[in-house]
Amino acid sequence: MATCSASVPKGFFSVNLSSSAAPSTPASSVPTFEQFPLSPKTFAALRAAGYTAPTPIQAATIAPALSGRDVIGAAQTGTGKTAAFMIPLIERLRAGGPDAGCAIVLAPTRELAEQIHGWARRLRAGLKTALVVGGVAYGPQIGALRAKPAIIVATPGRLVDHLERKTIALGAVRVFVLDEADRMLDMGFKPQLDKIMRALPGERQTLLFSATMPPDLGALARMHLRNPVKVAVGPQAVPPPKAAQDVYLVANGEKTPLLLSLVATNPGNVLVFARTKHRTDRVMRSLCDAGHAAQRLHSNRTQQQRREALEGFRRGRYRILVATDIAARGIDVADIRHVINYDLPQTVEDYVHRVGRTARAQAEGRATSFASPEERGQLHAIERHIGKALPRQAAPRRGEAPRASEPKTAPAPAVRHRAPRPIDPATVRSHRPLRSHGDGVGAHHHATPRHDRPVSLADFVEPGVAVEHRRRPSAQARRARRGRRS
Ligand code: AMP
Repeated sequence: MATCSASVPKGFFSVNLSSSAAPSTPASSVPTFEQFPLSPKTFAALRAAGYTAPTPIQAATIAPALSGRDVIGAAQTGTGKTAAFMIPLIERLRAGGPDAGCAIVLAPTRELAEQIHGWARRLRAGLKTALVVGGVAYGPQIGALRAKPAIIVATPGRLVDHLERKTIALGAVRVFVLDEADRMLDMGFKPQLDKIMRALPGERQTLLFSATMPPDLGALARMHLRNPVKVAVGPQAVPPPKAAQDVYLVANGEKTPLLLSLVATNPGNVLVFARTKHRTDRVMRSLCDAGHAAQRLHSNRTQQQRREALEGFRRGRYRILVATDIAARGIDVADIRHVINYDLPQTVEDYVHRVGRTARAQAEGRATSFASPEERGQLHAIERHIGKALPRQAAPRRGEAPRASEPKTAPAPAVRHRAPRPIDPATVRSHRPLRSHGDGVGAHHHATPRHDRPVSLADFVEPGVAVEHRRRPSAQARRARRGRRS
């Protein structure tokens, strides 16, 4: 059983966690749900959800939250945070009767808000709920808000819109939950958070959950939380232990052929992360052109399209989902076999969150990264953070299949739908085999590291692969070019 003493933020008390990310069967020292004064309706809902015992974050936070204390929970996504705040919130609202007021749960992305709202509906028993997120019409939301819901799950931008339109007032809020608070700050929601905080009554309970505790979040918590109980669960921000991680060192232009050969030879569903919306579109088109059932998820798509993409991926209509970091956090899709970082993320936290989409709830999974020479800084940072070098995989030679991470007998997805129409056929590349790095990692070897040496620049220069280094033109040349244009 791993403890987290070294990584627990100052002032927090730590909780043992047998697995760093996925909820696990608790040891006998961990309380059972029966030890909390919960209502029969909640016990019934927990049984229906198949929750037999609380996860560590639930065990540590349910009691103080039930007693009305403010709570700061430092826990990664996938540790059972949703029920950790939803159970006490529902119990307190229900116990308060008609005058109990309402609760607001704020989440950084629409997808996460929808997921939390789904949970609120499963556990609510008699309480009205409303989902207030962007990308959809205001009318039905205003209708739902007029019906005086007890639980409102919202994203910050749309909640502020409603405040400004005066279609919502927050005076009756008794419980305020901030989920994935660090992500909200990363996404630039600080101004919206400040507006929301100002509209909330001073007399309320605040439950703040975050995977990491950056200093600006500490400042926000000091200003808005009263004597909070602080709980940190598990080592901060490490990938799930059952996720086998590896990396291919490839030139940027070789990423798509490598991706195509990996998804062709590895069964199971795949979540691919790309750096930008544009790259997400392009990667999806290449996959569709190669005959794969793929879809994309990023913030330029309508909410209906985003919902359809995620639901289609959940249900197996799409075997492959290509996404920006919008899907890195909190999204709970069972059984993602393979996460592929087509582009490395900008922060190590995002790496951990992306990898955390696989190997959930004690399942096995694989997380493969493609690192181009331009991404060497990010790769170094990730390896420093996780404390080891990622095993290098050799890209397949011509006519050779890449290493299969799972038995070939694993069932392929049953449903195969017509791929969405490609938008720009010009971007589609033929599948060109890659060269080996020559470090001896065979195509069919398992993910055991062949060497633990730290990465060096030499790792990024593949024999025979020309990497174009574009030098920034001199100031004089840039001035001359501007002159020519004007
Ligand atoms: P969350 O961190 O809230 O996204 O939860 C991650 C996953 O753990 C979800 O699939 C939950 O349904 C599941 N989960 C949460 N609490 C428990 C529990 N006490 N027992 C078993 N599974 C749980």
